[in-house]
Amino acid sequence: MRLLLPLLTCLLSLTLANSPQPKLKALILDGQNNHKWDITTPVLRHALESSGAFTVAVSSTPPKGAPKDAWAAWKPDFTAYDVVVSNYNGETWPDTVRTAFEAYVKNGGGFVPVHAANNAFGDWPEYNRIIGVGGWGGRDEKSGPWLYVKDGKLFRDTTPGKGGAHGPQHEFVVEVQTQDHPITKGLPHRWLHTQDELYSRLRGPAEDVTILAAATSDLTAVKEPSLMVINYGKGRVFHTTLGHADYSMLCLGFYETLQRGTEWAATGACTRTADLPEDFPTEATVHPITLEGHPKQDRPKPKPAAK
Ligand code: ZN
Repeated sequence: MRLLLPLLTCLLSLTLANSPQPKLKALILDGQNNHKWDITTPVLRHALESSGAFTVAVSSTPPKGAPKDAWAAWKPDFTAYDVVVSNYNGETWPDTVRTAFEAYVKNGGGFVPVHAANNAFGDWPEYNRIIGVGGWGGRDEKSGPWLYVKDGKLFRDTTPGKGGAHGPQHEFVVEVQTQDHPITKGLPHRWLHTQDELYSRLRGPAEDVTILAAATSDLTAVKEPSLMVINYGKGRVFHTTLGHADYSMLCLGFYETLQRGTEWAATGACTRTADLPEDFPTEATVHPITLEGHPKQDRPKPKPAAK
């Protein structure tokens, strides 16, 4: 018995060490967007599931103009998930859903707005505090400052003007601004992102925002946030402005940062940091990802890469 107990303890700890980590539960929201949400949600799902770290469910809102009873039936249970990923940009949610969403993030839930999710709900103050900054949707100087980086310094520009702008799509270099964060740890300082819109002049309350990575806009000639983290109550938010279309998401830089950011939003840690793929894009070369059987979006002719 004297020998048996240490042996059993040892066996038990070995079993625990070898048992796989329980997967994180992610919920993608979509259903309305001025972007092709029906084509991009499967890419977001693949990006998360292919990491092995997530199970993914999707909740789609009623379509635009749906009657009230259709909306009354849409009641996603945010609290059943470790993290909520938004691919939604459309009509205002019912009050009950908005209240539940605010409480979910405030009480420690994770949230990941992707690209045009930051166009949504320009007139919902708490949503704007949660996402930090956003564009379009009536946003202007009353929404808060325009947040950007210039000469290594963070600017909160209160000059009057509309929030949200972008030029023609092109490849662009994304540059890490905060290296000592679990999401950016070990990433190359600069890497080339595939054809996408480079969001500029985003404005909002920007109360507790850290810009993790940014890209120089040819519209504004300053570094505009590409990846951000926001604290809201006990909740963590990873905000990516990247991902206009399926071809903008099918890129290892997008995949890796979405996986890291979504894990961090869910748990506050990032276990992927030590495993940067060897073929992660460089400053000169993007790394496209192929998704078998995926219906491809038409790609407008890109401008030459902005360096
Ligand atoms: Zn877009």
